[in-house]
Amino acid sequence: MSDSKKSLTLLSDLGEFGLIDRLTSDLPVYHKSTIKGVGDDAAVLDYGDKYLVMTTDMLMEGIHFNLVYTPLKHLGYKAAVVNFSDIFAMNARPRQLVISIAVSGKFSVEAMDEFYAGLRLACDQYHVDLVGGDTSTSLTGMAISITVLGEVSKDKVTYRSTAKENDLICVTGDLGAAFIGLQVLEREKNIFEGARGPQPKLEDYNYVLQRQIKPEARKEIIEFFETNNIVPNAMIDISDGLSSELLHICKQSDTGCTVYQHKIPIDEQTVKIAEEFNFEPTVVALTGGEDYELLFTLPLNYYDIVLAREDISIIGHITHKSEGCNLVTEDNTQVPLVAQGWNAYKQ
Ligand code: ADP
Ligand code: MG
Repeated sequence: MSDSKKSLTLLSDLGEFGLIDRLTSDLPVYHKSTIKGVGDDAAVLDYGDKYLVMTTDMLMEGIHFNLVYTPLKHLGYKAAVVNFSDIFAMNARPRQLVISIAVSGKFSVEAMDEFYAGLRLACDQYHVDLVGGDTSTSLTGMAISITVLGEVSKDKVTYRSTAKENDLICVTGDLGAAFIGLQVLEREKNIFEGARGPQPKLEDYNYVLQRQIKPEARKEIIEFFETNNIVPNAMIDISDGLSSELLHICKQSDTGCTVYQHKIPIDEQTVKIAEEFNFEPTVVALTGGEDYELLFTLPLNYYDIVLAREDISIIGHITHKSEGCNLVTEDNTQVPLVAQGWNAYKQ
């Protein structure tokens, strides 16, 4: 039984991104219509005048959500929105959605109605057609898999891999709030589980809770690009934390970057509650996940038009690869950016 002596590598040692790289290296492409396969927020397919973009995301009970404090309506909404965010990250518009779902037979019909009310609301708000799916049972908790198709003009599709030296690095909204919202929910879990005791004043946490429980995807930024004839050089959505996403852009674009700590947008409530938890707010913004903001790079000539928008922050610029990926801290020290984003196998 010499085979049993062979040492095996744990998934948790390789990590999620390492595993994806390993499983998908050298995939053959049989069709000219496959413009972009693995490696971006969505695949890009050529079926006519426009490109079709396709993305999928899976949510597992106990890993991605906890039904103790997640209302099913919100879960349905979020499950759709996280996919729309990946479509927007290609500078595309979401159009159709299919959903596969597995739940225990002990779930109530009314609970599923709630979930679908949220899913339908998201489709309504983002003008997406729910066109199919699959329904199954599960012995180990609820599983949700959603695939969304979108479309984009061929000259406007935006990849992770095409950032250019000297580009401005821009980020929408603010960062870190969803992670802090999750910390609050975890801390107050016993209340949701029906334990007696002092009730938390959750209204003080409204913003961060909303960012965790009912995130939105940045549709209006894609509209802003369209109206102003802007095509970013590179774009990604922030699902795993700013550092991790910036490193994806730089690695794939073969560049470096410099970002400034004081320019990273963090909401006041996030700062206050982060400190309550003894977290450094900048670290939360860099490494917390689930913001679903857009991170994009633009040529310098767009400086003024972007500066005029309150919901976009310019946080730094793209540099030559040899300079590496760095954060300039408030005391003017340069430190290398490291990826500590959410990783499916390292938690
Ligand atoms: P995002 O955070 O934008 O959803 P991911 O990190 O999940 O992106 O995925 C990165 C890329 O890897 C995407 O192109 C995705 O389609 C691809 N991918 C992820 N998991 C797998 C898998 N098991 N097999 C093939 N491709 C995968
Ligand atoms: Mg993404």
